[in-house]
Amino acid sequence: MTTHVINNRRVAGASGECIDVLDPSDGQVFAQIARGTAHDIGVAVAAARRAADGGAWSRLAPVERGRLLRKLGDAIAAHHDELALLEQRDCGKPVKQARADATACARYFEFYSGACDKLHGDTIPYTPGFAVMTWYEPHGVTGHIIPWNYPMQIFGRSVGGALAAGNACVVKPAEDACLSLLRIAELAAECGFPEGALNIVTGYGHEAGQALADAPGIDHISFTGSARVGTIIAQSAAKRHVQVTLELGGKSPHIVFADADLDAALPVIINAIVQNAGQTCSAGSRLLVQASVYERVLAAVGERIATLRVGPAAMDLDVGPLIRASQLERVRAFLAPYRQGGAAGRLVAQGRIVPEAPAGGFYAAPTLIADVAADAPLACDEVFGPVLAAMPFSDEADAVRLANVTDYGLVAGVWTENGGRGLRMARALKSGQVFVNNYGAGGGVELPFGGVKSSGYGREKGFEALYGFSVMKTVVVRYGGQ
Ligand code: NAD
Repeated sequence: MTTHVINNRRVAGASGECIDVLDPSDGQVFAQIARGTAHDIGVAVAAARRAADGGAWSRLAPVERGRLLRKLGDAIAAHHDELALLEQRDCGKPVKQARADATACARYFEFYSGACDKLHGDTIPYTPGFAVMTWYEPHGVTGHIIPWNYPMQIFGRSVGGALAAGNACVVKPAEDACLSLLRIAELAAECGFPEGALNIVTGYGHEAGQALADAPGIDHISFTGSARVGTIIAQSAAKRHVQVTLELGGKSPHIVFADADLDAALPVIINAIVQNAGQTCSAGSRLLVQASVYERVLAAVGERIATLRVGPAAMDLDVGPLIRASQLERVRAFLAPYRQGGAAGRLVAQGRIVPEAPAGGFYAAPTLIADVAADAPLACDEVFGPVLAAMPFSDEADAVRLANVTDYGLVAGVWTENGGRGLRMARALKSGQVFVNNYGAGGGVELPFGGVKSSGYGREKGFEALYGFSVMKTVVVRYGGQ
């Protein structure tokens, strides 16, 4: 059985119970992880507290902290293939995707390693005889709750930023996929991270996750996951007045104007919905197309979707399996009304599940549905599967109305050759990120990322993340004279 990693050591859980880990490609159990309890979380938080409150981690100069992060980034790069293989099996990611995730994780540590000694405050002009300065200080101990769709990438962006700012971390990965992160914690120990700086407790969300959100020794919580659980986390944190970063879901639109360069747009639009089998918070899951080119775009997108092949992760096809049976049921439930003719809309195209795909795997074919009503669940709710919902718009104002109508606001893509319109749209869209003539589902280590509305609040990635993982202290010194 796999164990937690606390104080740089593999530690068995107090309960001795474990959770089966399934391979999404065939639905078979291939590993077990420890079922963490509130007790295990308490041990990890205590270890992190010692590291943060005067321990070796808190005494490191920023430049030394940066060197350790760089070492860890290099170690992740050196173990790239091993980590990618773990992620491939654990999440059902096609080989290319798993490898891209390992590369991105190393890159986060590279990026944040260089930021550790550059997080400086200001001096502020004030009353004569006074010196005023601002300092960025770590919160102390940060808790990180990570989902299963991109364990390594989300760990890199969240924990990388928190460590860079000087916090000690307690991480609760998703019960469905955490093997790569346990290995990275071992690598951190080998790189010389002081005890307690990075701790990982595995387990269920409602047990270990809830215990982490409620733990009195946690000073900040970074949560990435569903809007439903985000509300629970925010409520837990509010009781103790602890800051939270919420990276939640999305229903991100691609908005294609009649003057768009379709050759450039179409491959990006398709990738943004099939990447990671659509299980991406920033998946481009809505396709809004100006009416005059609507049928043309549907035909071209449909043609490409029909060529996509779905199969086991190891076959490295266009699309792998979904994470688990319940996720597959969820996707099927969204599609059922369109298959049965119970909802307005038409099924334009579907990809193909290859015959080699084991019957026990969780496979969903990429699907394009057109003429979806703007208030239909498929247009408003996150499917978290490879399903693209298309609808036409008349003009710029109509595009903005449709794009902003959902509760979410994470990412938006605008496709137009009219530069002014691209900027007007960027201004009008209620979204944490807007891409004009490109799209970054999950990409861009340097780019601040986060949502508005039900997509959450706070920013991770980029230098901006360091402000969220720090507390500003204002120091006012009266030195007299004058
Ligand atoms: P989830 O909210 O069910 O689980 C996410 C994490 O929270 C897991 O580690 C889980 O164990 C934990 N958790 C569950 N209940 C908890 C509780 N009561 N207390 C504490 N922790 C708890 O989400 P999911 O199904 O794992 O992931 C899919 C969702 O995550 C989607 O909505 C997706 O959009 C979102 N997501 C967002 C981003 C982003 O950056 N905005 C990135 C990836 C995923």
